[in-house]
Amino acid sequence: MRKKNSNFYLQLISKMGAFLLTGFTAATVLAGNALDTNINGNPVVWKQGTITYNPMAAGLKPGGGFDQATTLQIIDESFQAWEDIEGISLNIVGGDTLPANVLDSQENFTEVFETELANCYPEVFGPANGPCRNPIFISEDGQLFDNLFGQCARFNILGVAGPQLPADDPEENTRTEVKRGWAAVNGACISPEESVDGCNSCPFTAQESNIRATMMHELGHFLGVHHAMVNPEEFVAGINDPDSFTEDKITHFPEMFPTSLPNGLDPAGLHKDDHEIFKALYGVDNNDTCTVTGKVYASDGSTELRGAEVRATNVTPGQEFIDAVAFVSGTNAPRLDRYALNQGNCTQDCGSYELRGLTPGETYQICALKIINVFTQGSRLPPVDPPFQAFTSTCPNSLTVTCDCTGNGDCGEINNVDIVTDANPDDIEKSDGGGNVDSGGCSLYQSQEIKTVKVWTAMQKTLRKFK
Ligand SMILES: [Zn+2]
Repeated sequence: MRKKNSNFYLQLISKMGAFLLTGFTAATVLAGNALDTNINGNPVVWKQGTITYNPMAAGLKPGGGFDQATTLQIIDESFQAWEDIEGISLNIVGGDTLPANVLDSQENFTEVFETELANCYPEVFGPANGPCRNPIFISEDGQLFDNLFGQCARFNILGVAGPQLPADDPEENTRTEVKRGWAAVNGACISPEESVDGCNSCPFTAQESNIRATMMHELGHFLGVHHAMVNPEEFVAGINDPDSFTEDKITHFPEMFPTSLPNGLDPAGLHKDDHEIFKALYGVDNNDTCTVTGKVYASDGSTELRGAEVRATNVTPGQEFIDAVAFVSGTNAPRLDRYALNQGNCTQDCGSYELRGLTPGETYQICALKIINVFTQGSRLPPVDPPFQAFTSTCPNSLTVTCDCTGNGDCGEINNVDIVTDANPDDIEKSDGGGNVDSGGCSLYQSQEIKTVKVWTAMQKTLRKFK
């Protein structure tokens, strides 16, 4: 999910997340920040080579320049951006459209969203008795978002997306294959903006750049990618001093940043970090770049710290937020419980990280970053929610690595690049399968703008399955 930020702590417009996988078997390496992993830490992705999506026959705001054709073109181009990443063999195609009245009633929506789901997983539900479609819902007035998340939610959430795994799945702990994805996008804050009595107005008017960024973000979730920060420094500085956040910074952020950026800006398009995560999830060979692995520790140098974002940034001035990749420690560690998000829900390698895609000949600073504390629920970075706060972000001078390759396609790994933080070992949660279970990959910040929770009840069970 992606939240749009204007008044950072109070008004966030969200996008939601989803997943993707392809037809290759990934190696047994760690695999980026997957939106979801099974209990063994293996990413949940699409395995079929061709993914067909089914957009509604509707425009995001036909009266504001976003008619059906324009909207479908943006969806197509957004999927294409992911598909075009080097080495990716996915084929993502638009299929039949869904009827424009699919959002007119809970019955119509449920028929597609919930009932059709069973057709996608015959191994769980038996032979399909209808189509397995991957819906892209287009809600011009945003009413769908209020129906799903509560009154006024349309003024907080730009979009939502995710994979759908089957409920009551006997293999839910081990399943890694997505066969169904969905997304919904909201036109309420596109000019002419909607207004609803009792709700605050839109935090800002969504421009084409915002719509394209939202779409690319949501479809990243649809394809299996989760959030990444990469550049919390400039984001926080921009929240505190919006004048300092100028448009030239939008290339410094991954498309999978959890919220929109200050001043109504959005990331400029897919960032190196988006590329590398996607390639990792879909098993693209990376021998022509360097991979760095290691663990994050508490101050004793032995207690592993799960839930810090580890980042490599090119030390060349001007490149530090462009040639940069990140990975949250413990994301791919095996767990005790499939869904729990507490730090101790981990059986081994709880502090492990893997950074891929370092450029030959370049030198990188390695840092361990505290995840911003408002990136929780639908805006979280896996695997820990709420994010662990009891340490100081650190970029040790001694922790730089240079990617040296002996020849073409022979870069290999730089291993045991461990980071010792100032975290008190006693503050690290020990192995424990308890704790909060995610309330759904598309949950929102509990903004003051959402006044009542009145949702289509059919959603609740399925949303929980998002992890
Ligand atoms: Zn998101």
